[in-house]
Amino acid sequence: MIKRKTVAIIGGGISGLAAAKAFDERGHRVIGFERSHDFGGVWELSRSYPDVQTQSPKDLYCYTDHPMPEAYPEWPKGPQVHAYLHSYADKHKLARLFKLNTNIKVMKRPTGDEPGWILTLEEAGKTRDEKFDFVAICTGQFSEKNIITHPGQNDFIAQGGSVIHSSEYSDPSLAKGKRVVVLGGSKSATDIAVHAAKNGASSVTLVYREPVWRLPYFLAGINFKRLLFMRAQERQFNSWCRAPVGRAVRALFKPLIWANFRGLETLMKLQLGLKRWNMVPNIPIEQSVSCSIPIVTPGLFEGFESGSITPIQGTFDRYEGDKIVLTNGQKITCDLSVLAVGWKLGLPYLAQEYQDKLIDPDGQYRTFRLAVNPDLPNMGFVGFNSSFCTVLSAEMISNWLVRYADGQLKQQPTAAEMRENIEQMLQWRRVERPAAQVYGGLCSAPFHYRHFDELLDDMGAKIKKRRNPLAENFSYPAAWAYGEYIASAPQYQAG
Ligand SMILES: Cc1cc2nc3c(=O)[nH]c(=O)nc-3n(C[C@H](O)[C@H](O)[C@H](O)COP(=O)(O)OP(=O)(O)OC[C@H]3O[C@@H](n4cnc5c(N)ncnc54)[C@H](O)[C@@H]3O)c2cc1C
Repeated sequence: MIKRKTVAIIGGGISGLAAAKAFDERGHRVIGFERSHDFGGVWELSRSYPDVQTQSPKDLYCYTDHPMPEAYPEWPKGPQVHAYLHSYADKHKLARLFKLNTNIKVMKRPTGDEPGWILTLEEAGKTRDEKFDFVAICTGQFSEKNIITHPGQNDFIAQGGSVIHSSEYSDPSLAKGKRVVVLGGSKSATDIAVHAAKNGASSVTLVYREPVWRLPYFLAGINFKRLLFMRAQERQFNSWCRAPVGRAVRALFKPLIWANFRGLETLMKLQLGLKRWNMVPNIPIEQSVSCSIPIVTPGLFEGFESGSITPIQGTFDRYEGDKIVLTNGQKITCDLSVLAVGWKLGLPYLAQEYQDKLIDPDGQYRTFRLAVNPDLPNMGFVGFNSSFCTVLSAEMISNWLVRYADGQLKQQPTAAEMRENIEQMLQWRRVERPAAQVYGGLCSAPFHYRHFDELLDDMGAKIKKRRNPLAENFSYPAAWAYGEYIASAPQYQAG
C-alpha cells in the first residue's frame, strides 16, 4: 500500500499545473501555492510584454491530452497561451487545489529526523508554517528579475529618462515618441525592439553583446519544427554518456554531420543576411544549440533593413546625462532604456544549507534526471528540465516525479546511482558540451527524445516510440503520443 502524502506544489505556471494533476491523479492530497493572483507563470497577462508569442509551434507547446485550439495560429500569442492554461486547469479541476496570492517565503526541514519539509507561507501580509510530506518545486527559471545598474543611472532618471526590465515593458504605448535603447540579444530583447519600432518609437537601438545563431520560424520556407526537432537530427549532437557503439557510429558519420550543420548555417546566413549585419556567430551551430537559442522575431531583420532598428554590438558602460555610453565609447541618446538581461535562476526561499547541496560553486545544479537530488529527500523539481517543448517536458517529469516520490519507478534509483549519474552529467556539461551549462545545466534541449526515453524507461513504459520508424525518426515529439507512452507505464493509487 502506498501512503497518501500531503504534497505542496510551489508555483502555478505550466509546471505547477502539470505537477498538481500528476500528484492529484495518484490520490495524494495536493496543495498548490502561487504568489500571483492568477495562474500562468510567465504567461500571466500582467507579466507578458505586448505581442509576445511562443517560440515553439503550438503542437510542441501543449499537454498530452489537451491540444491547443485549432483556431490558434501556429505560434500562439501570450493571451492565447494564458487562456489555454486556464482551459487545462478547468478541464482537470485544478483550481480547487491551489491557493493564489500565497508566497512561499522559506522552505526548510523539520528538526530532528522527521521527514518532509516545512513551508513558511505569506498570505495577505501574514505568515504561518505548514508541514508537507513532499514538495514539488515549480517556480521556473523566470521568476526573479536580473536587476543590473550602470553608473549614472540615477542622474539619467532624474533628467527624465526611464530604465525598465524587459518584463516591465507591458504597456503598448510605452515607446511612443521615445528614443528607445534595448540591451540584450535574447528573444525578449528583439521582440521589444521590433514592437517599439512598430509602435511609434522615434528611434530604436539594439545593443547586444555577441552574435548568436537565431532560428527563423521558417527556414527556406519550411517550418523549423519539421527540420530540427527530429530524433535523426538529435543524434547528431554530442549527447551524454554514449556507449562505445554510439560513439563509433557518430565518428563514422562525422563528415556527414559536419556537412549537415554547415548547410544549415549557410541557409541561415543567406536567408537572414547575417554577413551584412556582421552577425555571423563564431561558434558552430551544433555546439551552441541549447535552451537559450532564440527564434528570430518577425520584423527584426526587416527593421535593420529599413533603419527603424539599429543593431550595435557592445554593452553599456554608463549613463551620461541623456546618453548611454557603450564600452567602446559610442554614445546613444536615449529616453527609454530597456534592460532585457533575463532572470536570476534560483530558489531564494530554500535555506542556504540546502542550496549548498544542490548548486555547485559554478552555478551548475546537481540533479538526477533534472528532477531530484539524493541529498535533499522528499522534494523534486518540475519544469527544471527546460526545453523547446516545455509543456510536454513538465508533464513528463511530473509523471516521473510522482512515481519517484512513491518508490514506484520501475527503475527506482539508489542514492549512490543518482550521485554517480550526477557526476557523469556534470562532467559532460563542463567538458564535452559547454552549451548544456546554460540555466545552471537545467536544459534538456536539444536532447528531448533521449531525455524522454530515460524518463519512460525509469517509469517502465511499455511503449516509447511510434511504430512507424519514419515518423519516429523524422518528425517532432508528438504530445498525444507521449500521453499513450505515459499511460503504458504501470498505474497505481496511493491511499
Ligand atoms: C516570453 C517568454 C516566451 C517563452 N516561450 C517559450 C516557448 O515558446 N517554448 C518553450 O518551450 N518555452 C518558452 N518559454 C519558457 C517558459 O518559461 C516555459 O515554457 C514555461 O512557461 C515555464 O513554466 P513554469 O511553470 O516552469 O515556470 P513559470 O511560468 O515561471 O511559473 C512559475 C510560477 O511560480 C511562481 N512562484 C515563483 N516563486 C514563488 C514563490 N516563492 N511562492 C509562490 N509562487 C512562486 C511564479 O509566480 C510563477 O507563476 C518562454 C518564456 C518566456 C519568458
